Amino acid sequence: MSDEANSAGRSVLVTGANRGIGRAIAERFVAAGDKVATVYRSGDLPDGVLGVTGDVRDTASVDAAFSEVEDKHGPVEIVVANAGVTRDQLLMRMSDEEFETVVDTNLAGAFRVARRGSKGMIRARAGRIILISSVVGLYGGPGQVNYSASKAGLVGMARSITRELGGRGITANVVAPGFIDTAMTQALPEKQQQTYLETIPAGRFGAVEDVASAVEFLASPGAAYISGAVIPVDGGLGMGH
Ligand code: NDP
Repeated sequence: MSDEANSAGRSVLVTGANRGIGRAIAERFVAAGDKVATVYRSGDLPDGVLGVTGDVRDTASVDAAFSEVEDKHGPVEIVVANAGVTRDQLLMRMSDEEFETVVDTNLAGAFRVARRGSKGMIRARAGRIILISSVVGLYGGPGQVNYSASKAGLVGMARSITRELGGRGITANVVAPGFIDTAMTQALPEKQQQTYLETIPAGRFGAVEDVASAVEFLASPGAAYISGAVIPVDGGLGMGH
């Protein structure tokens, strides 16, 4: 990245910054003095974040949101594809709708955001694309055929972007959180939460700030030579995967 881009005041776009992990990531960039924007559907936003309503399942809405952000903050230099959903169901009972909604949001949504974001990055010959996957992407999870497939797909996406755009100063990496304490995991049955806890070497669930730290690093000048990597933030849960 250019020296100017390395300093605070970078143009950052995080999808789904109204709550959970996305909110913590956006807050971290705001604290660093960056110009932070989000494409979001509902709720309120942290102070200092420019919100553009949109839906990552809709190309026109993503493209329009980027244009608005670029008008106000300049070309996006760091994209964090965080928006995601679950629709857990056993394989034999999973509907097409449950499968497609998850893949359309988590995988195609990240694609739409990375594609639009890459335009300005190619011009600038600099940029960071960070995709929020999950330990479940490579570890698998019962009832999560849709979610796991969508999150594993992000690894191939980041690695293909790396091969395509690595020579233009652009990096693409995956952050794979484990069990992080947010609405998404609080929705799991108590018994399932307990089972996960017993299998996490760190002996605790992660905090949203743990994930924000990995993203902050991947966006930093020190991570310029890291691309196509999968960074686990899972207390050791997915080791070896
Ligand atoms: P939450 O359910 O708390 O938040 C999900 C966010 O995604 C919300 O802001 C939500 O918006 C947004 N979102 C969902 N669908 C869309 C859409 N179509 N367009 C725009 N925004 C959308 O989840 P987490 O914060 O826990 O998860 C964030 C990311 O981290 C997800 O990709 C998730 O898969 C991943 N992850 C989470 C883990 C965890 O343990 N919590 C573990 C591993 C990965 P809205 O509020 O409007 O619904």
